[in-house]
Amino acid sequence: MTDTASLLAQAQACMTPNYRPPPMVISHGDGAQLWDLEGRRYLDFSSGIGVTALGHAHPRVVEAISEQAAKVCHTANMVHHQGYIEICRRLTELSFGDKVFLSNSGTEAIEAALKISRRYFFDRHEPRTGFVSAVGSFHGRTYGAITLTGQPDYQKGMGPLLPDVTHVPFDDTDAMQAAVGPTTAAVVLEPIQGNNGVRIPRPGYLAAVREICNGAGCHLVFDEVQTGAGRTGKWFAHEHEGVTPDIMTLAKGLGGGLPLGAMVTNDEIAAALQPGVHASTFGGNPVACAAGLATMDVIRDDALLDRARRTGEQLIERLRATLDRHACIKEVRGRGLMIGIELHEPAAPVKNACFERGLLTNTAGSHVLRLLPPLIIGDDEVREAVGVIDDAIAAQQ
Ligand SMILES: *Cc1c(COP(=O)(O)O)cnc(C)c1O
Repeated sequence: MTDTASLLAQAQACMTPNYRPPPMVISHGDGAQLWDLEGRRYLDFSSGIGVTALGHAHPRVVEAISEQAAKVCHTANMVHHQGYIEICRRLTELSFGDKVFLSNSGTEAIEAALKISRRYFFDRHEPRTGFVSAVGSFHGRTYGAITLTGQPDYQKGMGPLLPDVTHVPFDDTDAMQAAVGPTTAAVVLEPIQGNNGVRIPRPGYLAAVREICNGAGCHLVFDEVQTGAGRTGKWFAHEHEGVTPDIMTLAKGLGGGLPLGAMVTNDEIAAALQPGVHASTFGGNPVACAAGLATMDVIRDDALLDRARRTGEQLIERLRATLDRHACIKEVRGRGLMIGIELHEPAAPVKNACFERGLLTNTAGSHVLRLLPPLIIGDDEVREAVGVIDDAIAAQQ
């Protein structure tokens, strides 16, 4: 039995209950569109939480995956393969970084960043083990990452957590200055808080934190798992501010739909990861690397960074103009195609109303509807999504 009702019953019976997706089962996708098993079409403005940067079933990604799968799917890191080398080389060319470690996910990239930072200072006999991160931040679900994550709900009942982690209010330079000291190993920040509702810090905040880290002699880590790989209209969101970290984490959009994460750093810090210090069996899997390389090729060849910047500006303008008539709208904000619509009321009912009208979105925090459409969307899709959101909000009154 593969009809939707039967599958949903099976899901309830055999899946751990930590996910509560809407009552449909996906069949396939094409570009920004998805279809369920009943043949219903959806416009996908969630991209599997900012992952499918080129939309679904992009021919160049499909071809790269198929070709690589027919050659070799897995090697572990006992041997070299071309895809791993090529992804690392390109990330070093595109960024401040000299060296790259590949993982399967964002949370693993964060763990690599935490471990390399502490190990770097251990090797120098400097007693630095502290991490400072922001209130409201999200860095993943493994123990190091949930400890950094500045949202108590995500940590509830999970303790004891990683020692030596401090949370400071986001976008508050004085609080950061007060928290960073001679035992701090690293400050870890999202350049734009994603999960917490697309919070963009004031211009100059990231530069001020950079100065604070320089003064204290600790590392600055930018968690670009959500903002990186073109999402904000540049390869990396920190480029908008002209501020360079010592370590950067990537994942989500990097693999174009396959699991691929990265920890990017400079030569000096990278030297802390000697053989045996850190590793991953699956990290930098050949098929994931092939998908990531094809995704990077298309972003470059189709000038998708410029396009994401322009489309994002249009989408924000149109949302502001159209939604202005609703009293419940607090603010529409974003950078590139990372957009938040903050409401004076909970966003989940609006997300559900969008779903009923065939538009997939996310919430981020309780009051923000978050849009992370694929970088390939065009004018028609922008118009359609704005119309649906307008209608979904109107239906709440
Ligand atoms: C999603 C996310 C993570 C965690 O990534 P996973 O692949 O789910 O482990 C970490 N940091 C940020 C900023 C994220 O948005």
